[in-house]
Amino acid sequence: MELTSRQEQILEIVKENEPITGESIAEKLNLTRATLRPDLAILTMAGFLDARPRVGYFYTGRSGSELFSQKLKQIKVKDYQSIPVVVDENVSVYDAICTMFLEDVGTLFVVNGKSDLAGVLSRKDLLRASLGKQDLNEVPVHIIMTRMPNITMCEKDDLLIEAAQKLIEKQIDALPVVKKSEEGYEVIGRITKTNMTRVLVELARDER
Ligand code: ADP
Repeated sequence: MELTSRQEQILEIVKENEPITGESIAEKLNLTRATLRPDLAILTMAGFLDARPRVGYFYTGRSGSELFSQKLKQIKVKDYQSIPVVVDENVSVYDAICTMFLEDVGTLFVVNGKSDLAGVLSRKDLLRASLGKQDLNEVPVHIIMTRMPNITMCEKDDLLIEAAQKLIEKQIDALPVVKKSEEGYEVIGRITKTNMTRVLVELARDER
């Protein structure tokens, strides 16, 4: 619901001064009580304000964008993470390309013999390797991957919006969701731009 600027002003006043009488709101806005009556009725019916006889108005509702950001700030990585696709650091570039097609993902996580995160392979990493003259069956992925400690990661209890910020800042498509292991990090999930798009669509659906 679109609020008029006067209705927004009323909400601000009530938020800061609740409980506040209609009379006092009118005074603050230099308007008469009668002029304000329709706005107060609309705000009360729409659930933004609660009117209690002889006490005044309380603020109960949040505006659309406040609700949106409030909801967004409650969403954790674990609520939207996908299953990670991992390959061993010794598999060939050729096999990694096949895995990317078979698993239908754009980013592969590379693990070492202890199953700890060792690196990341993106589509462009694999394309770049394919441009050379090497036999792709002979080149292991650890030669071409982006490696630890230069990997940007997140944890399952991080806020999803923080993970989104990392994707933007580093200009990457995916983050491994990791859990500390004895000597490194175990990969337990994957957060991608697709997960972010899904949140956007679901939050927008909730608003309707
Ligand atoms: P693409 O290569 O398809 O554009 P990205 O933008 O995700 O995909 O990758 C760009 C570069 O960043 C690649 O070299 C990739 O290895 C690296 N990269 C991707 N994800 C990460 C990450 N989480 N941490 C560090 N580097 C990454």
